[in-house]
Amino acid sequence: MPVPDDKINLFQQLINEFVKGNLNLSQKTLYEKPEDGGLGLFELNTFLNSQKCAWLKRARGLNELWKLRIYSKSMGNVLNVRTADFDRDVEPVIFGIVNAYQVFFYKYTETIGYKNSFMYRNEKLTFSINSREFLTRDFFSRIFFTENRLKILDLRVRDFLEGDKIKSHLRFTQTSGIPVNGLQYGRLCGMVKTGEKKFGSRKILLDRNIESFFNFEKGSRKFRRIITRKWGDSIPHNLVKFSSNTETIINSKNGKFLNGIWNKPFFSGEMRTFFFKLHQNRLGYNYIVSKFIRGLSENCTFCEITFNPEHSRDTPLHIFWDCATVSSVVDRYFIWLLTGTNEQNPSRQEFFVNFERPNEFLNKTLSLTSKLVVFYIWQSKLRKSTPNPELLKIFTLSELRTYSILNAEIGEAVRKSGLPRLRLLGADLLNLELQ
Ligand SMILES: [Zn+2]
Repeated sequence: MPVPDDKINLFQQLINEFVKGNLNLSQKTLYEKPEDGGLGLFELNTFLNSQKCAWLKRARGLNELWKLRIYSKSMGNVLNVRTADFDRDVEPVIFGIVNAYQVFFYKYTETIGYKNSFMYRNEKLTFSINSREFLTRDFFSRIFFTENRLKILDLRVRDFLEGDKIKSHLRFTQTSGIPVNGLQYGRLCGMVKTGEKKFGSRKILLDRNIESFFNFEKGSRKFRRIITRKWGDSIPHNLVKFSSNTETIINSKNGKFLNGIWNKPFFSGEMRTFFFKLHQNRLGYNYIVSKFIRGLSENCTFCEITFNPEHSRDTPLHIFWDCATVSSVVDRYFIWLLTGTNEQNPSRQEFFVNFERPNEFLNKTLSLTSKLVVFYIWQSKLRKSTPNPELLKIFTLSELRTYSILNAEIGEAVRKSGLPRLRLLGADLLNLELQ
């Protein structure tokens, strides 16, 4: 039975506080998947809504009063219900179940599942791409609607299709028993084509119809997967800012890579927090912190230490790339790392985002190494010391060695990167040593 909203909020708050500590994050950031820029936190409400969908599944039995109540206000099928037909104040529990199901039903319609969806009063199925108009009673004359009511309520996109092709008008009226005229038929076919254009490429495991989607034994995972599913290839909000901060270009593919970095289990907790904050633009740069702390300079820590007369603001682009102190260390480091190859030192784009050179293993290794360099620079800043080329070598080699041992994929990338400096780090050597 339903848990009161204030209890859910309290539980959720406890989970959130525990996870995010003193980081001030938006709800969106908490629940979104890591690749989309979030923490991928478990969302209680989504879970409970999926459970409610499972309740509706049970309602198909019609052997108890509450099930009959849902059925009586449905459009002839408990899976064809709309919240508009239920009163939240009169029957809050049933309303909650129907409401959760409607969220699922519309999400389901916005996938290849549109073919199985009910067309009548389904706001996701519109007559054309740019229209919001969907199939309602107004589409039919009053007499026509009364005479064909049950068939219209049960009408599904699939009823228009034979394989992937749209049926002829005649064939449709024969098979569905709904004698629509030619004009109406044309408009209904427009709905079918619009559905294909909008949702046809959004593949999910498709059952033959929505009823069989509900024919599984137990649990609610199947609902959750649909409810939380996101479509589209947009760039995560946090990376739009990160790319402008670092003057780089981030597309959806390397965006997923950047946002997924903090979630790699082989990094230490400290590094994971750092990468999360880096790509969320939440590191304590002097130029931001100085607005809140009186007397703190907004200038780059390294420029202050080295008495650089230019006094540059400590922005991400400056402190990790443009700063004269940093760039000379980074340059020397990569010259050393790439010794024995014909490879050029990284560009800004490669350094901050990822490498896209011919050798995939080299790309993987260098992308990872660049992240370690960024982390090392930040550590130096926190210690108020300038980056040291020798310490940087030791740090990156020891980290890469650890990851190579812990993670077979990285081990392979390092081994096949063609970097002589890393030759001794691969897992093969480990095996040799152990023998
Ligand atoms: Zn500087």
